[in-house]
Amino acid sequence: MDSPASRTEAAWRIEDAEELYRVQAWSDGFFFVNEAGHVAARPGPDESIAIDVAEIVADVRARGVEFPVLLRFQDILQARVRRLNEAFRSARERFEYGNEYRSIYPIKVNQLHEVVEEVLDAGRRYNLGLECGSKAELVAALAHLEQDDTLLICNGVKDNAMLSLMRAGQRLGKRIIPVVEKYGEFPQWMALAGQAPQTPEFGVRVRLTTSGSGRWAESGGDQSKFGISIPELVTLLERLEADGRRDAFVLLHCHLGSQIADISILRDALKELTQVYAKLVRRGIPIRYIDVGGGLGVSYDASDGQADCAIPYSLQEYANAVVSSVREVCDEQQVPHPILLSESGRAITAHHSMLIVECQGAYRKDRIEPEFRPRTEDHALVGKLHRILQRIEKPNRQRPLKVSALVEAYHEIRDIRRDADARFRIGYLPLEQQALVERLYWSTCDALLRRMLAQDPDPMPPEFVELEEDLVEHYLCNFSVFQSMLDHWAIDQVFPIMPIARLDERPDRRAVLVDLTCDSDGKVDRYVSADTDKSFISLHPVREGEPYFLGMFLMGAYQDILGDAHNLFGRVSEVHIYTDDAEPNGYWIEKIIPGIRVQEMLEHVQYFAPDLNRRMNALVRAKIDADAIRPKAGMAILDEYTSAFKRSTYCDLQNGTPPANGEGGGT
Ligand code: PLP
Repeated sequence: MDSPASRTEAAWRIEDAEELYRVQAWSDGFFFVNEAGHVAARPGPDESIAIDVAEIVADVRARGVEFPVLLRFQDILQARVRRLNEAFRSARERFEYGNEYRSIYPIKVNQLHEVVEEVLDAGRRYNLGLECGSKAELVAALAHLEQDDTLLICNGVKDNAMLSLMRAGQRLGKRIIPVVEKYGEFPQWMALAGQAPQTPEFGVRVRLTTSGSGRWAESGGDQSKFGISIPELVTLLERLEADGRRDAFVLLHCHLGSQIADISILRDALKELTQVYAKLVRRGIPIRYIDVGGGLGVSYDASDGQADCAIPYSLQEYANAVVSSVREVCDEQQVPHPILLSESGRAITAHHSMLIVECQGAYRKDRIEPEFRPRTEDHALVGKLHRILQRIEKPNRQRPLKVSALVEAYHEIRDIRRDADARFRIGYLPLEQQALVERLYWSTCDALLRRMLAQDPDPMPPEFVELEEDLVEHYLCNFSVFQSMLDHWAIDQVFPIMPIARLDERPDRRAVLVDLTCDSDGKVDRYVSADTDKSFISLHPVREGEPYFLGMFLMGAYQDILGDAHNLFGRVSEVHIYTDDAEPNGYWIEKIIPGIRVQEMLEHVQYFAPDLNRRMNALVRAKIDADAIRPKAGMAILDEYTSAFKRSTYCDLQNGTPPANGEGGGT
């Protein structure tokens, strides 16, 4: 694959930008680059409506929304629910499956109320249900079971209060199915059911011998922390039959882990689960549902062969695999086809939200001005470096520099730099001369690298691979990796990132994004890109006085809720968008939710404004009493302090950029 540097001579086209940032590989058709060179969204349902993301950003900026901003395209949620259900409809038709499919939304993936409501709304015509995995999720989900036959699958470790609430929901006539994950939950559940005439329906998560695949492989298989084993299942059946409660056992569940990387493992696991189902049905247990759990993968980057990020199957292939595997075993064993459930969370939510962050500035090694000429009083090393720089920048047209000559020149300047450093350390080189050496050195490195990339040698000399890394620029961005992209920090998940405008312009800067936190881990060090080296992203130079925004995509699954308050950077602002062709720009904004304020963030860690104000007041009064400051100045300091409680936890770049030095202190 060409690197952008090797495409240097041809004119840059928007198609090059789409290819460089691999838009088609991850966008599932929801995003593309429009003719203006902006990122545009096509959320549907009317595919002819495209919304210019740069226009949305200008719009929300004009409304005073503080950045970073999470844009939620509610229509994408609807589209994903539709696509999932349509894929299963078509698989059922193709394999002549004799029962229904229902999608179950596991709210752990994104519990935001509006996301859950939107998914429920989109899923109404498909009878979509919910899944919860904790007490708080149960409380949230229960109140949303408007139709009695909407399923609520309850996974997770359950205490008595949770089981009792599930039972209460069942008494209310709701279709709630607790899934026994640990054997101990079964006697607890049966005890709660008591002698009541109503059937206390429940399901069982089986610990399959087939392990999952990909990063979350341990969610399934013998070593899984979840599910009950076959010997435990036999004990459970005996107890159930002794109690005359066979009819209560209605669902079999498995979950192979998120981002299933290998569809053949899914097939094996489902065949194993369906064998269990067939044996239970033949024993007279009226299982109605097979729940295949989550794991339907999303391609974040189909290019790098990293199994967790590149999903080698389509939504339709997944649906086909589920339906055909279950059907095959049922037909072999001559048992009825059960209702199929899947708890696909990531696949429903990932695409619908994108984070917009502003670059506060680009920081790179200092370079020398093009017009610089050494003066007679400058140190000889300055002159030496300058002569090499000129030789590299203006090579003889008849005899272009060979790869070996470039490597030799690099060794030469490295020696000069070492010589200068040694002299500086023992006090022989003045500060200004050392500064000139450094600037000339980096300018020469730059020129050497450009010449080398133009020759595109294979392999690239190792010194130049290192040089590429050394010359990468740091783009300081107004966001926190820990709050908005925790999976990048925690599990090296890659997320597609690209500028939202200027995509008709060649991005000739090699950059690494660093965040606002004082942590050397607060950076993005892996990118979705067509470049072979994915440790940097190609960006444009930031222009003075012109904001430069980046879009970070596929943020809708898990990131919202995993976010961590490192350095007390909090929840970001949100804008909820719907498409509407009657509107001039094809969209309308349903809601703006401001980001968290400093005061709320502090309250999470037990600092309260009245107490802090009282303490600050005492500090200021002490200085006034000691005549160190005038009372008026003291009061102004107090006012400034108090007003900070109402501010965003992020930088307010619209109203003045704080002095930044590009990198935090590091921990
Ligand atoms: N169901 C269960 C039991 C889970 O633990 C999970 C998450 O890991 C899911 C469903 C959602 O999985 P995914 O987001 O991969 O669809």
